[in-house]
Amino acid sequence: MSRLPSLMLCGRDRATKTRQNASWATSSGSVAQISAARRTPPRTSHPCYAWAVRWLPRHDTMAAMPPAQPVLDLSADVVAVTAALVDIESVSRNEAAIADAVEAALRPLSHLHVERSGNTVTARTSLGRAERVAIAGHLDTVPVNANLPSRLEGDTLHGLGSCDMKGGVAVGLRLAASVPEPTRDVTYIFYECEEIEAVANGLGHLAATRPDLLEADFAILMEPSNGAVEAGCQGTMRVDVMVRGERAHSARWWMGVNAIHAVAPVLERLVGYEPRTPTIDGLTYREGLNAIGVSGGVAGNVLPDECRVSVNYRFAPDRDERQALAHLEAVFDGFDLELADSAPGAMPGLDRPAAAAFVAAVHGDVHPKFGWTDVALFTSLGVPAVNFGPGDPSLAHTRGESVPIAQLRHCEATLRRWLS
Ligand SMILES: [Zn+2]
Repeated sequence: MSRLPSLMLCGRDRATKTRQNASWATSSGSVAQISAARRTPPRTSHPCYAWAVRWLPRHDTMAAMPPAQPVLDLSADVVAVTAALVDIESVSRNEAAIADAVEAALRPLSHLHVERSGNTVTARTSLGRAERVAIAGHLDTVPVNANLPSRLEGDTLHGLGSCDMKGGVAVGLRLAASVPEPTRDVTYIFYECEEIEAVANGLGHLAATRPDLLEADFAILMEPSNGAVEAGCQGTMRVDVMVRGERAHSARWWMGVNAIHAVAPVLERLVGYEPRTPTIDGLTYREGLNAIGVSGGVAGNVLPDECRVSVNYRFAPDRDERQALAHLEAVFDGFDLELADSAPGAMPGLDRPAAAAFVAAVHGDVHPKFGWTDVALFTSLGVPAVNFGPGDPSLAHTRGESVPIAQLRHCEATLRRWLS
């Protein structure tokens, strides 16, 4: 426990891969089935829902026809681009098709320098502007949950990743394609493997292998934030509180010590715990300390000699990981702790000029970010960063995730204004 991992999973779902191929597509507004088996009728006649993806065969030969390759049309409406991205299934570690489509859409744009690393695509302007901003979004999603393909209902687009975070990616792609001379140089980053263990994270890989691509005065993570600015993020730490006992036959229980019974004071401390709500840069964070698992037991006739209570601590960014661990050691004084994983928070950084300028430009409310995002990675590199993207974060990772069309348009228009 002497060395804290610098970047670990935030407690999001570890993806168990489920594959479901994106199954249909259209061209110029008309449904063009790849095959009858793939046919899915358009779900709506909404006027703004012009499809932005076509599927092209990879080869001309009829023999052994390989799967079609999706082609993104970035001149289409942001809603259509979002739907097209949703329809390219990209559960973590299966981002090749969507990265191919993103790369193919950006490569022809002469104002961008496009690079690819694994399934992470970057695109930069180099206009010699005084300031550079990074606009980043992850391409992967949590596993499919009967929520593909996309579906437009009224003023809301539904489907896996519509909220977390293909709406934000669509906004970024639209800007990359249609703002050739931004007032600030921009590095667009569309990366893989955000929803799984941190060692796989595409942004983390860039930080390790091509830190030059992450150099910026300011970064915007287009994670869902209801189209408002969410600053900073809370840290997260998971520890196991170890409770020991002594085995004995349950018929002669007085010969042993029941470790499960001995857990009671740990649970009492958790139940009685009063989390902090510190205010930092005018934003009030909300800490939390919760048991997220209990394990113990040997056999039906044996007093258990060990029980562990898994605890997740969400801590405000005025504490670093060492302080967070010291706090947990104080709370569980008298018990052994085992550190399972940890990730630092990020200070809001609203006092930094680039961040303050962005907040002023978007005229928006600023909220604290309670969850953990890659804002923390930019912050660790000395780049102030905020979350700003379409979609309600509380819908992320749910079967019914969706994004309001108005938020897609709001985020695109706001950033377009800021970059123009
Ligand atoms: Zn996300």
